[in-house]
Amino acid sequence: MQVVHTFAEARDTTGVDLALVPTMGYLHEGHLSLIEKAKAETSVVCVSIFVNPTQFDVAADLSSYPRDLERDLALCEAAGVDTVLVPSAEEVYPEPLDPIDPGPAAEGMEGAHRPGHFEGVATVVHRFLTALDPHHAYFGRKDAQQVAVIRTMAAEHGLDVEIVPGSTVREQDGLALSSRNVRLGLDRARAVGISESLFAAADAAEAGERSAAGLQALVELELQVRGLQPEYVTLADAVWMKPVGEVHREAVLATAVPVGGVRLIDNIVLAPAGPGVVVDRGVRLDRPSILYR
Ligand code: AMP
Repeated sequence: MQVVHTFAEARDTTGVDLALVPTMGYLHEGHLSLIEKAKAETSVVCVSIFVNPTQFDVAADLSSYPRDLERDLALCEAAGVDTVLVPSAEEVYPEPLDPIDPGPAAEGMEGAHRPGHFEGVATVVHRFLTALDPHHAYFGRKDAQQVAVIRTMAAEHGLDVEIVPGSTVREQDGLALSSRNVRLGLDRARAVGISESLFAAADAAEAGERSAAGLQALVELELQVRGLQPEYVTLADAVWMKPVGEVHREAVLATAVPVGGVRLIDNIVLAPAGPGVVVDRGVRLDRPSILYR
């Protein structure tokens, strides 16, 4: 495995099928599942580790974001990664670098609650994709709106890259893995209420409930009885991330919930199937996450 600090060193010049897995580090099984998928589908896998300052709308969230490069490099090595790219801020943001418009998929949900967040995401991902020129780039469905923003951004800019989504990976009790989970402390017990509330709606959808009003109200109620207050609960179409009235094509039921001092997001994916609805709840680990090792 090579560890490099510039795009030039990470770029592949031999014409092989290069996959990029962009991360902000403090790796967990969500990241590792993307790496595994990339390894199975492509020939050279590059993982980038860069805590991108421009996508943080709250300074304290950036300064307290967990970091441990040594740990991440050991995990990448064990996962069979070919190249780890750890660029400096100067390498990522040479002057002048115009911000990239994140487009209409960025307007609601996270975009509405985190001003500037998706402009930061679109700008940094555009920079990585143009500087590295990978054939494939892997992103987790846990950040469903991010996948939509990047897909539409890549299409809008004519980038020759396939954006590949990976399933949401969850802890044994259902909590979606996030590097931020290590900051939960005693609030960890309450945080599982987020996935429990979404899964209650998944059960209802599988039993025939297709309306946004019904599904959203159910999640809100389930969160409330667990003492959790969401910033939003929204049923949106999976491509443009616009609110929809019912599940008539693939949709996400997404929420953002502050738990103690940590803001967590989660979603489930719903798709019509004949008269009913099928729900993708992601995959659960069968043992405790490496986050706590
Ligand atoms: P991050 O380091 O949080 O910026 O995440 C890097 C990539 O891993 C993004 O594409 C995320 O969507 C993805 N990711 C983060 N958490 C999970 C998870 N629990 N399951 C699947 N993918 C995830």
